[in-house]
Amino acid sequence: MVRKILELGDENLRKTCKPMPKFDLRLWLLLRDMADTMYDAEGVGLAAPQVGILRRVVVIDVGDEHGLIELVNPQIIATEGEQAGSEGCLSVPGRRGYVVRPNKVTVRAQDRKGKWFEITGEGLLARAFCHEIDHLDGIIYVDKMDHEIFDDDQEKTQEEK
Ligand code: ZN
Repeated sequence: MVRKILELGDENLRKTCKPMPKFDLRLWLLLRDMADTMYDAEGVGLAAPQVGILRRVVVIDVGDEHGLIELVNPQIIATEGEQAGSEGCLSVPGRRGYVVRPNKVTVRAQDRKGKWFEITGEGLLARAFCHEIDHLDGIIYVDKMDHEIFDDDQEKTQEEK
């Protein structure tokens, strides 16, 4: 079921989310709805607070070989390098900003059954890990961006190279 995505200005997006304590049907329905909502909005990631649930749950699909990634209670445990590029957010529609992130990120998280695992991503996936895990602490990319990217084709093309 597609849920409503909260937008910048909603105070739920600024809260620190609590750990997900239980790995039951309630979580699985949330994960399903979050994936439905992300795909419906054509995003590459969604965090639970964006649908008003203040728990540490994230879904990501950057269209690579990993497919849909579900992260429960995720923590970044290692980062490497740096990448600078354009970033957007489903809670900030129609805007993009230039944000510096690590190029390689390793996350430790629990799966939908509570089992801990580690996953490493580079490039866009590393960016998505940082962006979505920031949401769990009430941080939105606009807080970290160097500057906003306006919908000027020339600038956009340059930034995204
Ligand atoms: Zn976002």
